[in-house]
Amino acid sequence: MDLARLWPALLLPLAAALDFRYHHQEGMEAFLKSVARNYSSITHLHSVGKSVRGRNLWVLVVGQFPKEHRVGIPEFKYVANMHGDETVGRELLLHLIDYLVSRYGKDVEVTQLVNSTRIHIMPSMNPDGFEAVRKPDCYYSNGRENHNQYDLNRNFPDAFEYNNATRQPETRAVMAWLRAEPFVLSANLHGGALVASYPFDNGAPATGTSHSRSLTPDDDVFQHLAHTYASRNPNMTKPDQCKNKMNFPNGVTNGYSWYPLQGPANSKPQSACLHAGRFQRRLPRLALGTRRLSSGMQDYNYVWAQCFEITLELSCCKYPREEKLPYFWNDNKASLIEYIKQVHLGIKGQVFDQNKNPLPNVIVEVQDRKHICPFRTNKFGEYYLLLLPGSYEINVTVPGHEPHLTKVVIPEKSQHFSALKKNFVLPFQGQLESLLGSNPPCPMIPLYKMSSSHSAATKPSLFLFLLILLHIFFK
Ligand code: ZN
Repeated sequence: MDLARLWPALLLPLAAALDFRYHHQEGMEAFLKSVARNYSSITHLHSVGKSVRGRNLWVLVVGQFPKEHRVGIPEFKYVANMHGDETVGRELLLHLIDYLVSRYGKDVEVTQLVNSTRIHIMPSMNPDGFEAVRKPDCYYSNGRENHNQYDLNRNFPDAFEYNNATRQPETRAVMAWLRAEPFVLSANLHGGALVASYPFDNGAPATGTSHSRSLTPDDDVFQHLAHTYASRNPNMTKPDQCKNKMNFPNGVTNGYSWYPLQGPANSKPQSACLHAGRFQRRLPRLALGTRRLSSGMQDYNYVWAQCFEITLELSCCKYPREEKLPYFWNDNKASLIEYIKQVHLGIKGQVFDQNKNPLPNVIVEVQDRKHICPFRTNKFGEYYLLLLPGSYEINVTVPGHEPHLTKVVIPEKSQHFSALKKNFVLPFQGQLESLLGSNPPCPMIPLYKMSSSHSAATKPSLFLFLLILLHIFFK
């Protein structure tokens, strides 16, 4: 073989490969733009907004139809680096992008995943914070907050307490993004601990806070999601990996449980990302009795955006040396892929009227797991319910009308890369247009403190939700 002709071919993939070093905004943009250019048929690069300093909040979408939502294809997202000094997730997501696009069409698993899922990847939600870090540090640096010194993971509306923090541009951009896409599953990537943490982060007695936890009606699914990630990461499940006496059985924790498990406030809380923030907030709250505790992104995703999100703490050291990055990639690669696949749990489908018109804003939920803000069909009449195998009674309700109950069995061995498909046809004929035309927003006040004068649409479900929890805790 002619060696002179072979050399360029050998060098090409090497030159194109992503290196294991930290990519600042400019380098990250260059990489994302080169991916969007080289893989234009399966990627779509866009900015969902700008940081305080005007840096773009880039999202690269990977999918068979990357530019827009298609009926039946669930939307998935990863968000990293919302704490600017927690840097591992940022680089992992760049490598995940590289992995997905370079293996598409060659690797069966990646090809099926990309064909069946629209995957949104935001490597940095806080680019100003990342650029503000002067001296990388394992525990704390000035880059945690955004440029206005706000902790973005305490900057979202909260279902349990009033959050009067000024909504930051980065937070507003993510909230608008959540309204624009019907996300089903998500994870946000942090550092400072090794654990997969699931909602709620905040709570009320009705969600179990008197038992040092705060659980959602979908707790079985959230535990499964957290275990799916943690069990494939060789270090996450080992006890006290970060040598700070924080032991999380099997590498998972309920977000609310995390704090009370830590004991007194002076017992080394500095290393954990969420905990450090919570620690800083907790002291004045205890002293003054009025300061907020949480207002994190994962609770917001679940309560207001119908999107299941967990928080992944991926490194003991928040900003490790870049020589360690290949090890982090190796430890997290399988988990990152397997976690995306979970978007195909449960059932999905559309709700139609008698004339086969899709019906938006119809409530579709499992009968005994009502959400604080009811889960509704999107503008295509679609719903997605993440559920483990089992038997469920699905409640399909047009607000103001009788509920339609249907029993559905999700088999143990669900099809790969697709939830069970189940459409519902309701006995209406075109008379619902005005009722279903606008999407009634879920109130932005602490939902657990709603008085009887508030939205009739959410009252029954809140009541039922509390009733279910009371039943669980006192039976
Ligand atoms: Zn963090």
